[in-house]
Amino acid sequence: MAYVKEVQSVIDAGVSEEIAIALYDLITAEFEYIAEHPETEQFRSRIASIRKHELAFFRSIIDGACAKYPLPVELNWRKVIFKPKRVTRCEVCMNYFYDVSRNGRSLTCSKQCARNYRNYTRTGGTAIDPRYSRQVQEIPVDFSPDSDDEFGHAMLDEVEEAEQQRLYQQDMELMRRLYSF
Ligand SMILES: [Zn+2]
Repeated sequence: MAYVKEVQSVIDAGVSEEIAIALYDLITAEFEYIAEHPETEQFRSRIASIRKHELAFFRSIIDGACAKYPLPVELNWRKVIFKPKRVTRCEVCMNYFYDVSRNGRSLTCSKQCARNYRNYTRTGGTAIDPRYSRQVQEIPVDFSPDSDDEFGHAMLDEVEEAEQQRLYQQDMELMRRLYSF
């Protein structure tokens, strides 16, 4: 597979393709954690705006991701160039991922999602309805309920908990990919 320049240069620095891809997904996940429930375009522009107005913070996200798990070579923001426009959303699981492909047209985030996507399209069906695979965003939640709105607060707690859980699982998945357990 042909990778975009910045990903290829990380691979050239001495990490495997899997780790390079996992690293970019980890950075994407860290930005997603900061950006809070965005849609794709909003998410890209939020990251771009952090890069423009909070460069030190932007770099610290990349450095943090590079330091999170032991890598075979030392990497940091100088080496790992992160381009907001490459962030896209998986057609199957709706998770955000960094499109590492040179043609920039990846539809799915992982081999497993790619396999599911092929199965759906081959059988003439459609990819999993995003409404079901990413319920968190579809619940009409008031993100700033009034202080006496108990139901609103309970809903918000529930959504935040589900989101934490999802991010945690995403993190575990990345760790699994890095260490292949
Ligand atoms: Zn996916």
